Amino acid sequence: MEFRQVPVDGYEKVVVAKDHDSGLHAIIAIHDTTLGPALGGLRMWDYPTEEEALTDVLRLARGMTYKSACANTGLGGGKAVIIGDQESDKTEDRFRCMGRFIDSLGGRYITAEDVGISIRELEWIGEETRFVTGLSRQSGSSGNPSPFTARGVIRGLFACTEERYGTSHLDRLHYAVQGLGQVGGEVVRCLSMLGATVTVSDINEERCQEFVALPGVEVVPIDEIYEVRCDVLMPCALGGVLNDNTIPLLKTQVVAGCANNQLLRDDHGRELHDRGILYAPDFIINAGGIINVSVEARPEGYDERTAVLKIENIYNALREVFDTARRENLTPAEAADRVAENRLDEARRRNGSSVMDVAPNP
Ligand code: NAD
Repeated sequence: MEFRQVPVDGYEKVVVAKDHDSGLHAIIAIHDTTLGPALGGLRMWDYPTEEEALTDVLRLARGMTYKSACANTGLGGGKAVIIGDQESDKTEDRFRCMGRFIDSLGGRYITAEDVGISIRELEWIGEETRFVTGLSRQSGSSGNPSPFTARGVIRGLFACTEERYGTSHLDRLHYAVQGLGQVGGEVVRCLSMLGATVTVSDINEERCQEFVALPGVEVVPIDEIYEVRCDVLMPCALGGVLNDNTIPLLKTQVVAGCANNQLLRDDHGRELHDRGILYAPDFIINAGGIINVSVEARPEGYDERTAVLKIENIYNALREVFDTARRENLTPAEAADRVAENRLDEARRRNGSSVMDVAPNP
């Protein structure tokens, strides 16, 4: 395997690996280990160029630092990507090689599931390194994080609806949910069970049919979801969905969903704020999954009750962000960044620099 380090300002270590025999072409970005080892999922995507993969992994790694800082997981932020086709390139060889790549960083980076990766691939990685989380419950690991992410989103909704509508009666409100995947689907089931009205959309017609059978749920075509007159819009599919084209269409006063990187650009947070729309910063409200995984990374190992109790705290984390925003005249997105940066600064003052030695060269 060949390694190439890429110096990037503000990142502790960024390494590109290429292995001729297995075909692995991957990047690991360790953004910040001030608060602990850098934990973040592994994504497999057919990026057209290495440069695009690098842009993605850097943005995601930094997001993990901020997410973990605000959720008090005791972890730092990092991410990994494999450049490859999810259908044809998922070979055991490639993933075992990825495992050796992760292992070479000595535990400064710990991996987990992300887009395009399932437990099977993580198990191949786990043959070569112990720095892997999110394996099956049967193996003593924390399992699929999605139900925990959904739980955290519901918890976060209470903070949002109290802040904007002065109510914690989630059942009395109307939600528009984009994406009926592992997280969005679970959120819709829960809202329907509470008796709420839920309008949904998904590019997958079968998923739509499955959900339209639930009480209070109706389906709209994918491009109509932004225009639904509702109390809470919940982006639960893709990033970048809050942008110049969609924001003017919104007929809601709250946006609160699980998708990562919902704002296409930072100034879209300001645009929402100026239009009187309360935005729940994505990395605060969708932290349930990382909180669940972080419990597995403790020396005493995984315990579901501990995870659930910590996830309840997403409510307080959002309250802190909304209060900071009001007090310091910031948007919630800016306030969330401020909360994360303050936590990192405090820890740096306490510890010197990062708690981890610089990651070894692979
Ligand atoms: P998933 O792949 O299970 O679900 C995504 C769903 O969105 C699919 O049903 C897909 O058909 C649908 N979709 C795609 N494009 C769409 C569009 N244009 N309009 C409507 N629907 C569309 O993914 P997931 O695990 O549920 O994650 C959803 C989002 O939440 C992602 O952005 C992910 O990064 C983020 N997230 C997930 C977790 C987790 O624990 N799974 C944790 C944090 C953040």
